[in-house]
Amino acid sequence: MEKKIAVIAGDGIGPEIVAQAVKVLDTVAKKYGHQFTYEPVDMGGVAIDRWGEPLPQAMLEKCLAADSVLLGAVGGPKWDTMPGHLRPEKGLLALRAGMGLYSNLRPAKLWQQLSAASPLKDVSKGIDFIVVRELIGGVYFGKHTTETVDGQQVATDTMSYSETEIERIGKIAFETARKRRKKVTSVDKANVLDTSRLWRAVMHRLAEQYPDVEYSDMLVDNAAMQLIKAPEQFDVIVTENMFGDILSDEASMLTGSIGMIPSSSMGEGTRGLFEPIHGSAPDIAGKDIANPVGTILSAAMMLKYSFGMEQEAAAIEQAVHTVLDKGLRTGDTMAEGCTQVSCTQMGDAIADCIGA
Ligand code: NAD
Repeated sequence: MEKKIAVIAGDGIGPEIVAQAVKVLDTVAKKYGHQFTYEPVDMGGVAIDRWGEPLPQAMLEKCLAADSVLLGAVGGPKWDTMPGHLRPEKGLLALRAGMGLYSNLRPAKLWQQLSAASPLKDVSKGIDFIVVRELIGGVYFGKHTTETVDGQQVATDTMSYSETEIERIGKIAFETARKRRKKVTSVDKANVLDTSRLWRAVMHRLAEQYPDVEYSDMLVDNAAMQLIKAPEQFDVIVTENMFGDILSDEASMLTGSIGMIPSSSMGEGTRGLFEPIHGSAPDIAGKDIANPVGTILSAAMMLKYSFGMEQEAAAIEQAVHTVLDKGLRTGDTMAEGCTQVSCTQMGDAIADCIGA
């Protein structure tokens, strides 16, 4: 198969981790007889520096012309003082909206080899759930204003959701659950927010259409607690944009390191955006010590969800297993008896394992 992949290396550790994922993709292409071509795309801080804006229209068009998009991460202290519309993250929000990517899947799985890296005392029951996060609605996409009222500044961010927006992400959650352990937990704040009450009503309606899936509601504050107390209870968590952003970062840490977690963002077609859930980690950028596994597993998700290459995706996951079994670890997941490797060495080891 021939596929064109738009590659956004981005800022901070972005270029280092994306290079490892591309190396792994090249190995997969060689082994399985595919041809992947890569279209570099500037987005985030690097685009602000080069083009004066975080996502120039021409860059969005390159993504829309590709079969799928692989992203490292964007942002960093250099651009932190820029005005809101000129922040690197604005480019990412515009990309998600421009590609119509309303469904964000963030699997949180504890690789048994990394049990020691989890901060939880007892992970013997396992952690394996997926956060299905609504990605282009809610407060991140509402109206943001700052005005002066009675001599002081007042800032307002509005949050809104329509039934259609809730229903389409709800369907993804129920369909995802059908392929897993058939359990959906919908997380909201229905005791306070109107958007959550509508969210809950729509989810209940959907639940009736999926009688084979066990359904429950959970308030977001309780969900934050339950994730630490008994994470094994979750299979699929479906939630709105901001709650999903926060809970999936919390969930990622339970699994040992934020550097391990991939994500997919998709809309109606097969083209998606695939990226690790972490940011640009400016504190470790340029040192070749970042964990590239989240990005490599994001590339695996791209093969599976965008290109229907199940076997190839499984080969990448198996290679990650093998390399972890061998005791290779980047600094963030380092444990006694293991061998610490660089970002590049981790990428090489995974690629070699696939190629072998
Ligand atoms: P971060 O995820 O970049 O880093 C949080 C911590 O995790 C840091 O200590 C970092 O060193 C560590 N970390 C992250 N990824 C790692 C990896 N692959 N291997 C090893 N350690 C890793 O979050 P932050 O520090 O809050 O944000 C830094 C910048 O990234 C900010 O500008 C923020 O806006 C941006 N950001 C971008 C995205 C994105 O591009 N999708 C997401 C979140 C944050």
